[in-house]
Formats: sequence, C-alpha cells, structure tokens
Amino acid sequence: MSDYPPKAALGATATIKFPDLAQKYLNYPQLRSNLTRATGTIRAKRAGVVSEVPGWEEMRQAAAEIKDFSIANSDTLLTELEATVTAHGGKVHFASDADEANRIVVEIASSHRFTEAIKVKSITTDEIGLNDALQEAGIAAYETDLAELIVQLAHEMPSHILVPAIHKNRDEIRALFARTIADDSLGSTPKELAEAARLYLREKFLTVPFAVSGANFAVASSGAVAVVESEGNGRMCLTLPKVLVTVMGIEKVIPDMEQLPLFLELLARSSTGERMNPYTSIFSGVHPGDGPEEFHLILLDNNRSSLIAHPLRFQTLRCIRCSACLNVCPVYERASGFAYGSVYQGPIGAILVPQLIGVEKSGSLAFASTLCGACYEVCPVKINIPAVLTSLRATYNQSQASSFERVAFGTAAKLMSNPASLRWGSRLVLRLAPRFAKVPLSWQNALPILGRWTRWRAIPLVRPAKEFRSVGELGRDE
Ligand code: SF4
Repeated sequence: MSDYPPKAALGATATIKFPDLAQKYLNYPQLRSNLTRATGTIRAKRAGVVSEVPGWEEMRQAAAEIKDFSIANSDTLLTELEATVTAHGGKVHFASDADEANRIVVEIASSHRFTEAIKVKSITTDEIGLNDALQEAGIAAYETDLAELIVQLAHEMPSHILVPAIHKNRDEIRALFARTIADDSLGSTPKELAEAARLYLREKFLTVPFAVSGANFAVASSGAVAVVESEGNGRMCLTLPKVLVTVMGIEKVIPDMEQLPLFLELLARSSTGERMNPYTSIFSGVHPGDGPEEFHLILLDNNRSSLIAHPLRFQTLRCIRCSACLNVCPVYERASGFAYGSVYQGPIGAILVPQLIGVEKSGSLAFASTLCGACYEVCPVKINIPAVLTSLRATYNQSQASSFERVAFGTAAKLMSNPASLRWGSRLVLRLAPRFAKVPLSWQNALPILGRWTRWRAIPLVRPAKEFRSVGELGRDE
C-alpha cells in the first residue's frame, strides 16, 4: 500500500487544504530528496538551452500574444477547427464538463464493444477522471507513458504535470516493476527498467484496438492535432489502434500551422530542457491505410470558458503545460506535488485549480507561493502567475473572512489610507513589536488571529534599520 494519495479527478476531493497536505508531505525525506535532485537537474538543463537562444524574450512575447488572440477568438477558432477536422474525416464533440466528456469516450468504446484502451499521456483525461469512468463501464485503461505507467501501477496520484512519477527514484521503480510487471530478477539500470516497461507495453500496443490521447495543440485552419512526447509510446498509441479519441481542453487551439514551430521550440526547451522534442506527432482526421480508421476529437470546456472574460485571470489559459514553473518553485520542491491535492500541481496548479473548481473548494492553493516571481520569469507564455495568485487570494479572503476579520481589515484599510493615521500607527507598531517579541512563544501562539501569524513567523527583536523606518517615523527629529 503506497504512502502517497491515489489518483482522483479534479474536484473529487471536498476541499483542498494545502497547508495540511504540505505539512504532511514535508515529513517525507525520501520524497524531498528525490524531488530536489530531479527538479535541480531539469532546472539546470532548461537554463542552459534557453540561454543559447537569441531573442528568447521576443519569442515569449509572441507566444503570449498568439495565445491571447486564440483565447479571445476561441469561439470562431473552435468552429473552424470543427470544420477542418470534419473535412478530414474526423468527428468533433463538444463536452461542457467532465461527465459529458467521459460519457462520450465510453459511448465510442462501447459502440465497438471495446474492453481495453491504451492511453498516451493526457493530463486532461486525469482531470476528468476518465480511467475510473472507463473502469465503471468495464473497460480497462493502460497508461503507456512510462511515468504515467509507474503511477498507475503504484495506484498513486501524479505529482508533476510533466514527469508524473518524479517523486520516485530508480530503486523504488525497480521494486514496483518487480512486484507488478516483472519479477525479482529485474535489475535497476535505466535500460533494464525501460526494457521491462517495453515488454509489458508492446503487447498492449499490438493487441488493443482503442486509444485515448491528449493533445498539446490543435490548428484551426488545418484541423491538425499535435502531440509531443519523449518515448515514442505516444506515436504507437496514435497510429496503431483502429479507433483514436483525443481529449483536449478548448484552450489548446491556435489559428495557423505557421505558429506551431514557435510553441514547439518554447515547449521543448522549457519542459525537458531539450533543443527539440524527441517525438512530435502531427495528424489530421483519417486516411485510408494509414493510422486509425476512426478519429474523434473531444473539446473540453470544464469551466475554462468562464476564465476568458476576466481581465487578469484569462492568461491562465495560455499555459502550454511545460512545467517550468514547477521546477523553479521553492514551495513545490519542498511540499511536493501531493500537497496540491490535484492533478495540476505547482504554480500553474495553484492558479488553475481554484478557477476550474472554485476558490471556495481550493482557494488555499492561492497561498501556496512565496510570490518570489520565479514562475513568471521562466514561463514561456509569460503568464503573470504572482498577479493571478494575488487576485485569487483577494477573492478567497473575501469569501472566508470572519466578521471580526472584516472589521479589522476594514479599519486597517481606513487607517492606512490616511497619511497621519498611518504615521502614528506605524510608530505604535515599531514601539510595541520588540516588547511583544519578548513574550513567551507559547503565549504568543495562543492568541486569537495573531497566533496564526506567530506560529510561523518570528516578531523581530530589534527595531528595523533606520532606512526602513522612514514611513513610521516620518517627521521625527533624530
Ligand atoms: S504556467 Fe507557464 S511555466 Fe507553468 S506550466 Fe504553464 S506554460 Fe509552463
């Protein structure tokens, strides 16, 4: 039985309590050491390949603008995509929520009496809980991405949007494979582990006639869908089965093919720190004698369209799921992906999840950040994650504040908006804080409201340096 949580669809948990989950997973030293090593390696690789590209900033800006255009015009682009996919022999389905998307996939599988499905890594299908829906319908789903296979065999939640098994080291994977798909004679070199997975998966690729994939991009003008992956397992999923269903969020659409190379370059360098992605499959509709005989594209909304009109938060939909923000986030590295309680972790999870399932259920995620800005700096589509986080914090605080807090913060706002009262208030705090700091910590922590601050932060014993006292001591002769 794993120590880590089992996979659950987005919104399946009643409330995500980030502080409690973070507290729990901070106590797993092996998890922290695995994460530190893995994120450190990816960070260094990314920094190296990004620094060699002249005009990286201009590329980020261009990608952000294309995404913003696509989001603002998603209604016409999606209609165009439907027409072009249909013209190439595919079938497009619109799904307003997870249940509808799952129902469509199950209906397609059932109409062919399929009892098995192979899947290429699709975080969107994790979001909707597709594997559970398939299982309920008597259809066994097999993950074919190596990292996804590992978490599926371990019955665990993915802990990273790109490397779902990043929390596991090689010895742990060896033990898991020896228990599930191999035997005790299995070695622990990467080659031996990959071979064990290959033998297990190859049989599925050659015998299962039904596949479900995700998509990284879809091109409205041509109906082409792009899937990028590192192992080639995805390409087998996309080409060998008779029937292929691709599930993608509506924000993945871009207008034209000419824009795709920009995103492919940004994605490869930002995600795995490679100059070019090893396997990029681009396909459209069906072609006799070449690939699946039937292709379905499911366009999933699941609350995404509610973000479009927000003047700040809409930029969340620019995300190309590169995971660069996770790899630089000090909170993610220490608390782990499990602390985010969902299939989307790290800074992107902290802004996306509250908007998809509601701040009342997951608003504490907006506080899972030091606001250091590292995520914004590395984001290839320039999502201002700190700004979105503070906006979500405001909404969450308004929804959660007790009447005492409302009065206290209302009074503080009034005092701070008046220079004279701010001056006198600051002087008072500067005088009282050092005295209060000498009160025993257990007494400080027992205080209502204030104790929630002192439990995690120390009150400074010394007065701030003179240059930092200018506001509080304005007008004072020294
Ligand atoms: S928010 Fe930006 S950095 Fe994070 S996963 Fe999305 S595109 Fe990548």
